[in-house]
Amino acid sequence: MTYKVGIPQGLLFYDYYPLWKEFLNELGTEVILSKKTNKTILDQGVSNCVDEACLPVKVFHGHVCDLKDKVDYLFIPKFVSIYKKEFICPKFLGLPEMVKNTIEDLPPIIDIEINLRKSNLNLLKAVIKTGQYFTSNLSKIAMAYNKALKHYERYLDLINQGIVPIEAVKMYNLSLKRNKSFNQNNLNIMILGHSYNLYDEHISMNLIKKLQSQDINVLTPEMIDTDQINQHSSRLPKRMFWSFGRKIIGSAFSAIEEKSIHGIIYVSSFGCGIDSILIDLVERKARENSIPFTLLTLDEHTGEAGVNTRVEAFIDMIRWRGKDESNISTHG
Ligand code: SF4
Repeated sequence: MTYKVGIPQGLLFYDYYPLWKEFLNELGTEVILSKKTNKTILDQGVSNCVDEACLPVKVFHGHVCDLKDKVDYLFIPKFVSIYKKEFICPKFLGLPEMVKNTIEDLPPIIDIEINLRKSNLNLLKAVIKTGQYFTSNLSKIAMAYNKALKHYERYLDLINQGIVPIEAVKMYNLSLKRNKSFNQNNLNIMILGHSYNLYDEHISMNLIKKLQSQDINVLTPEMIDTDQINQHSSRLPKRMFWSFGRKIIGSAFSAIEEKSIHGIIYVSSFGCGIDSILIDLVERKARENSIPFTLLTLDEHTGEAGVNTRVEAFIDMIRWRGKDESNISTHG
């Protein structure tokens, strides 16, 4: 029997999908994805999640609703920590429990714990535990995971070449390598925020594509070299122990100090505690270096027309500033 395993297209989807998909496929299962986020998924998420949750967590619940009647298992790992001595947002830790307690008639959930705070050994345990849902053969599990890692490395390579994860996720298993260097004549705009806000086209209202269609080079945290991120984030007076925070701060500071960008758009979810700290740090650094900065705060009530107007005004301001109005405020 081929088991169907559902992976919701939400939260850490763009961070790890190629790894989990190939691993589960190698174990002989069929991976089923929820649909891309749309209004129905958003509405289902909002009505099946606690009001206090942030937008991406609500959207994730909508993806679970979309999948639950189509699969034998749902894959919802319990992420505690993804780097040594660091944590990620506690919402990830409680995610499987939240889903179980708010959505009825769910299939069994593969809710293995990923906790690399003390050592990477825990990842091995998580891999074995996931594999054991489908086979007792440990060498089959190890081989499946090693093959999946190779696909995942190709995915990360594509992103390092300047391909945004929305595109890279479609390309990684085609063994095609596209060398996409930025057009030197275009504006370079950095979009900051969590991967699940930036790359979900419904949540971000297609921000990346809209900018690219105006011949703007888009840079995101995932496209910045890890060493650069670590080097720049380590200069903070206090250690950033949130992994997402370290990545966002390190990538922003790196791009700002290298003067490789013309502006920053920060995409945040309403009520996100981590973002409230990051936004302040990035905005100060941008202001010190005369890099225009603007913030888009999103929730389920945000209208696309308002977002478009803000973004258009911001881009126009940067273009005017570049041409002949160098005294225009850098604070969008
Ligand atoms: S980091 Fe912020 S946006 Fe992400 S899950 Fe936590 S509260 Fe939500």
